[in-house]
Amino acid sequence: MSRSDLYHIWGIKGYDILPGTKYGARGTVFRVAPQDRLIKCPDCGSRNVTRKGACVRRLLASQVGSHEKITLEASIPIVHCKDCRARKMIDPAIALPKKSYTKGFARDVLVLLREMSVLSVARFLQVSWGMISSILTDWLEKHFSRRGLRNLRRIAIDETSVGKGHRYVTIVMDLDTGDPVFVGDGKAERALDPFWKELGPRRARKIRCVAMDMGGAYQAAVRKNLPWASIVFDRFHVVKLANERIDRLRRRLFAMKDFEGRELLKGSRFLLLKNPENLDASRGEPGRLRRLLDLNSPLTTMYILKEDLRRFWEMDSREKAEEAAREFIGCARASGVPEIVSLGSVIERHMEGILNHYGDPVSSGPLEGLNNKVKALVRRAYGYRNMHVFKLLVMAARVIDPYRLRPFDTS
Ligand SMILES: [Zn+2]
Repeated sequence: MSRSDLYHIWGIKGYDILPGTKYGARGTVFRVAPQDRLIKCPDCGSRNVTRKGACVRRLLASQVGSHEKITLEASIPIVHCKDCRARKMIDPAIALPKKSYTKGFARDVLVLLREMSVLSVARFLQVSWGMISSILTDWLEKHFSRRGLRNLRRIAIDETSVGKGHRYVTIVMDLDTGDPVFVGDGKAERALDPFWKELGPRRARKIRCVAMDMGGAYQAAVRKNLPWASIVFDRFHVVKLANERIDRLRRRLFAMKDFEGRELLKGSRFLLLKNPENLDASRGEPGRLRRLLDLNSPLTTMYILKEDLRRFWEMDSREKAEEAAREFIGCARASGVPEIVSLGSVIERHMEGILNHYGDPVSSGPLEGLNNKVKALVRRAYGYRNMHVFKLLVMAARVIDPYRLRPFDTS
């Protein structure tokens, strides 16, 4: 085998093949050595060097087209530089420091990962799961460890849970680009501390509005660090909250009802949560909903108020929306049904932020979409036990296929 075979089969440039190829149970081992043109000082690039021995590195090479492992046993010279006085191993060019595989091998792994899971790539190449996962992690780190925080104007902040252990991360998303720009530990106010620090006062001043849910944890942090920004509690979260209250009421009524009432309430959840224009007449849904509401006045009140709530976002002005909101809160209070009263007071407490929609019609909906992708990534059970890798995956979630962890073009 010649120097050009080495290049044409494995894309390895600048190396000569030495005699003594070994064929064994653990694959084929080629002995190689760098050509003179690679013998230079790794620090200053000077060729004015003398050799001071060598170091043997065993590197897995691309094995595409081969049925067994290919290892290069490379003897890498150590040089003494007469210009800068460094005494170091030359840059082997075909592999990164401390890695036990060539750059070509890592490239192949990333290509295979577009179609296969980490585990199947490891089995196919007969290497450890850890090696494949570390190649993927390196790639993620190179491309996603830092996202620019410049030009942030409108952001969304939300939490997402990690796996079953009820661990949380806080995600900040740039609503103008749809990119996640920060992932913090936990879901408390302090999860955002590193974000503010990295952002700095100059870039912070450009942020105009922040979409979030009404949970409260991030509000204080945003008020403190971005006092000029408007906080928007978006429609998505408000409607979700109303639906939760409906569900709670339905369950409480179910526990109280006699047999007939229970039969009617059974399976009523989707009827109540559906928007009326989406009811399916062919399945008798409008009729069932009517009977259900006739039977039960608290549920009727809740249902009507839920419909009123949707109108908040459909007014032509903030003033009209505010009027609708006040009316809603009054009705909720008058209903006397605990679930509805509490929904009314949540809305009252957050009214300013809900109405801010009229100045900045943003929503954390895109972030919610990202969260679903993140959850799919977690289910893939790849590396989420390691928080660092998990955060990188969140940052990459938009450009990585969560079902197959398919990295996009790596060049
Ligand atoms: Zn030098």
